[in-house]
Amino acid sequence: MTAQAVDTLELYRKYVVPNYGRFDLQLSHGKGCRVWDEAGNEYLDFGAGIAVCSLGHCHPRVVAALSKQLGTLVHTSNLYYTRPQALLAQRLVRYVGSPGKIFFCNSGAEANEALYKIARKFGNEAEPPAPIHTVGEMVETERNRIEIITFKNSFHGRTLAGISATGQDKVKKGFEPMVEGFLQVPFNDTPALLAAITPRTVAILLEPIQGESGIKPADAAFLKDVRDICDKHGLLMMLDEVQCGLGRTGDWCGWKTIAGDDLLPDAVSWAKGIAGGFPLGAIWVRDKKIQMKAGSEISLADLLGPGSHGTTFGGTPLVCAGANEVLDVIESEGLLENARILGDHAKQALLALGSPLIKEVRGIGLMVGIELDENFATQAGLKEGAVPSLHMVNLLHAARLLTVPSGTHSIRWLPPLNVSRAEIDEAVAILGKVLASLS
Ligand code: PLP
Repeated sequence: MTAQAVDTLELYRKYVVPNYGRFDLQLSHGKGCRVWDEAGNEYLDFGAGIAVCSLGHCHPRVVAALSKQLGTLVHTSNLYYTRPQALLAQRLVRYVGSPGKIFFCNSGAEANEALYKIARKFGNEAEPPAPIHTVGEMVETERNRIEIITFKNSFHGRTLAGISATGQDKVKKGFEPMVEGFLQVPFNDTPALLAAITPRTVAILLEPIQGESGIKPADAAFLKDVRDICDKHGLLMMLDEVQCGLGRTGDWCGWKTIAGDDLLPDAVSWAKGIAGGFPLGAIWVRDKKIQMKAGSEISLADLLGPGSHGTTFGGTPLVCAGANEVLDVIESEGLLENARILGDHAKQALLALGSPLIKEVRGIGLMVGIELDENFATQAGLKEGAVPSLHMVNLLHAARLLTVPSGTHSIRWLPPLNVSRAEIDEAVAILGKVLASLS
């Protein structure tokens, strides 16, 4: 290790809050699907900043667009109008394919916060539907509708409401009490969902493909059931597409790759890949009429009225110019199709390895989950307590392939959407070699 690398580690140890478990890798620069470490070693980057670098590193068109905007106007606050934000909003509504409006923020957790606040405001201020439940003498119209149902093993971000919404105990530990009004039920289980609905329920929030828990897609029938249940009970159907949205599954809308074009949610959150590496979050809210308790009829898309919500940095001209370019490259270079074709190719090639150490390969488009066999620890001779997914990711680093662990037994491939067939084949060969050295 060089003296500078030792110094960097020491600076982290002294000055950076140790909330992340980091791999022993110091990265210096990237180009396309490759990154280099400080020692000059080259890696194939199949993590892409955890599904963020949609076009890999330093795409020339994005560098040019950002550089131009950097010399034009970087930030104004949301007290004023700017052209790049207007154009990005128009583009995102076009991608959903149905009338609605966009709110911009900075991250996935913050995009989901906007969804929770829409659900709260809807529950507090919109006229509830005709009573379905009775609770003793009290009918549902007299009760507070504030509860959002989410799912076990989901992940919705690290804010206090985000961990309350998330269906994993490990993110909540030490931060109790949780924010009131969240409840988790088993994923892909319609009877369990129905059983959890009460007069307090106001919304259902789900990831169409659970990402952090190892790439687990919702069933098409389940997504349709959620829509039907929301319609029947007057609930909002909200989708967290922070990881699976905007191209990763081979469609702008991850849910459409599962349930088809006809299924329309009431709100969607995005972040990660939207600006190819610049921090940006956004939500789409459907233009649908709602009846307010105060008597007026408004659009759900206008529920967050002036002064009700906001953020200083949301949707700066700089980040919106970058996002417009990233999304334009995805469109003009046919990268949705690339994600579909190469995602299928990757899954087939991984299965063709025929390794007994791989239990399952799953996913949609370039969101690929590789689940290691239960016997991996024994077969690979792991020490007591060693985590198979972390062990595997470290071995792949040594073989110059970056991937992302999920839970104890899964690793994720989330390469840039412009990855080539040759790069996929190279990654499969590296993985195959590492697995062969273990079994
Ligand atoms: N929602 C999903 C589905 C995610 O995968 C993530 C991050 O991994 C988040 C929300 C949180 O996003 P961020 O880390 O940008 O706050």
